[in-house]
Amino acid sequence: MELQNATPEQLTQWEQALASEYEQHCQQNMRLDLTRGKPSSEQLSLADALDGILKGNYTSANGIDARNYGGLEGLAEARQLGADILGLEMEQVLALGNSSLSLMFLAMSVAYHHGFNGPESAWKNQPVTKFICPVPGYDRHYGVCETLGIEMITVAMTETGPDMEAIEALLACDPTIKGLWCVPKYSNPTGTVYSDATVERIAKLGLIAGEGFRVFWDNAYAVHDLSTTPKSLAPIMAYCQQHNTIDSVIQFASTSKITHAGAGVAFIGMSADNIRAFNKVWSASSIGPDKVNQLRHMRLLPNYEALLQHMQKHAQIIKPRFQCVLEHLENAFATNDLGQWESADGGYFISFHTRKGLAKDVVALAAQAGVKLTPAGATFPYGRDPEDSNIRIAPTVPTVEDVDAAMKVFVTCVKLASVRQALKANAQ
Ligand code: PLP
Repeated sequence: MELQNATPEQLTQWEQALASEYEQHCQQNMRLDLTRGKPSSEQLSLADALDGILKGNYTSANGIDARNYGGLEGLAEARQLGADILGLEMEQVLALGNSSLSLMFLAMSVAYHHGFNGPESAWKNQPVTKFICPVPGYDRHYGVCETLGIEMITVAMTETGPDMEAIEALLACDPTIKGLWCVPKYSNPTGTVYSDATVERIAKLGLIAGEGFRVFWDNAYAVHDLSTTPKSLAPIMAYCQQHNTIDSVIQFASTSKITHAGAGVAFIGMSADNIRAFNKVWSASSIGPDKVNQLRHMRLLPNYEALLQHMQKHAQIIKPRFQCVLEHLENAFATNDLGQWESADGGYFISFHTRKGLAKDVVALAAQAGVKLTPAGATFPYGRDPEDSNIRIAPTVPTVEDVDAAMKVFVTCVKLASVRQALKANAQ
């Protein structure tokens, strides 16, 4: 089905056939959901041994009673695990609460209200603060900026990471741009792994940006590989050291999609000066993290090797779901001009692009047929996808059978919306 070369008669015939296919889907009263970027219950069960694992032994590797207050920076062994995930030294990492997003919010608040280099450096001192957001991206990052009144500027994602030329040009002429969001491995939602060259260019941004610039390096999917030969991500801090920009990058990760989501351990990694500034605010808000939970995690996943083995079990569960989505997309759209997608080797999403102006229609059609998709626009700041074409598909929660059923509907909706758009264009 190649819309460009279709005659009006062909389009009408396709529309009728697809409308009847769509009607059949609607009559099945399905209730399927491809919106949730969270682990399935089978994945969560992989970590159920956390419950009761301490068996009365609350002492950490270096003799700390995890039940008591204190240890603001987290247990040493948990910090080491975070350091291994982020490619840092233990001293550069804090192991804190249950959510990396909270740490991003806190770090952003430190920069905005207090300043990482003293009160004069607080972003709020300038009339406007701007942040660069590669798109499509993660809606909750946008939420952090919006909550603090930070203006968002978009740049496109490419196959090697965000459009670096655009970012460098923006930073060179606007010192009010104070940061950049990055999900460097298996980007949410495109699945992109930043190339080494991109990582190095990001490490050098501190040399051209205005004072107080920080890259928020959200490595949420650092160990979430689906392939046994995953692409590796270059360690950004090594480049920062080389270019003398170690304060310009703040890194994040968590065990949310490794053990129990929202009940894990989150990590923040950064230079010693950044840690000092962060701790001033963090220590005002807490007497210490949940070290008992950190200890539970360390008994389940005592080292990085154990963690990687654990992640292979995750991959075995979710890989067939991703494969199912990709097979449907391949069969339906590989040889026509109705849609494009990025196929991920890890992470939690597949990013699909309809023809311009159709994402909202597709999401609405699918909803009517009982398949819930992430709202169109959610992957862009302020919920506005200027091309109305990106749809984020999250296949981890439904079973393979449900993914299969949902994708049949999805494919029909994309085709139907596309043919109707072409018919409308012909009629004008
Ligand atoms: N960062 C990214 C890119 C995510 O996709 C998610 C969750 O989906 C999070 C952070 C949230 O992580 P946490 O549960 O550690 O707050």
